Amino acid sequence: MNPPRQGGHRSPGPTVLGVALSHPERIYWPPSGDAGPVTKQDLARYLERVAPRLLPAIAGRPLTLLRAPEGIGGERFVQRHAARGLSPLVGMVRPRGEEKPLIQVDSAGALVALAQSGVLEIHPWGARSARLAQPDRMVLDLDPAENLSFGAVVAAALALRVRVLALGLVPFCKTTGGKGLHLVVPLAAGTRWDRLHAVAAAICERLAREAPERFTTQSALAGREGRIFLDFQRNARGASAVAPWSPRARPGAPVAMPLDWAEVTEGLDPRRFTIASAPARLEAPDPWAEMEEAARSLPPLSQVR
Ligand code: ATP
Ligand code: MN
Repeated sequence: MNPPRQGGHRSPGPTVLGVALSHPERIYWPPSGDAGPVTKQDLARYLERVAPRLLPAIAGRPLTLLRAPEGIGGERFVQRHAARGLSPLVGMVRPRGEEKPLIQVDSAGALVALAQSGVLEIHPWGARSARLAQPDRMVLDLDPAENLSFGAVVAAALALRVRVLALGLVPFCKTTGGKGLHLVVPLAAGTRWDRLHAVAAAICERLAREAPERFTTQSALAGREGRIFLDFQRNARGASAVAPWSPRARPGAPVAMPLDWAEVTEGLDPRRFTIASAPARLEAPDPWAEMEEAARSLPPLSQVR
């Protein structure tokens, strides 16, 4: 007869999509407010469930990952290259022009392997690995100053939406799981980084010029009081933005959530989207379903300024 198992004796862990989880009970997000704890196994099951919505936003792209193997209270590091400690089930890609292999996740199993590896945030690049010289997403990042209401962020997103639409482009909106909102604009093939950066800058700078009391494009914290920082710097090769449905390594296990524009109203509370609550939204149609069909070419810069 076997003696009873003692602590430290590794029993075979549970598997999710065939991926074995060690220490499935490890707490990645401790309880916070009304939110219960979220364990490694909870994260793995969450990623398995939301894979049909998350994978389209990240598959085929290099990823920047935020790892915190001991949970949100522990050491954290940003990882852009395949390296020690990352499960071999997490994919790799070696695009032209890159010296070292980058990280790419194309399957639900590889998503679960991210959970096993202590990855708490997933940030895709704005281009596909096969065509890194051609961005296919513009990201405008709205960062509110401390003390600003979320309603002010909503108003900024709606103001930007009108401008982006007027340029013949189609913006989508997501919460970040943090303090702001992102506008994501799909771009037709053949877009170049320098033009994208110039157009994104011009859109933001024009809005800041017209309403300087509400907006700024200056990254210096000192000039941001009471205003929203319109950050267009995501629009560069190698820059990333958090994936829709990605968790954030912040208290309460919030997630970034794609929205229908009808939801982007005064009462929007981004904190209500969490690992626990978000899967219920899978029942509703995907507000980003038309993203690929909505890809357009950039307008001439003269039209923006
Ligand atoms: P919030 O709404 O709270 O601002 P956010 O995701 O927009 O959330 P930011 O700090 O504004 O967070 O950063 C914007 C994006 O820039 C992030 O989503 C992330 O992809 C990228 N980023 C920011 N800081 C880093 C970093 N240290 N390393 C890698 N990428 C980063
Ligand atoms: Mn931001």
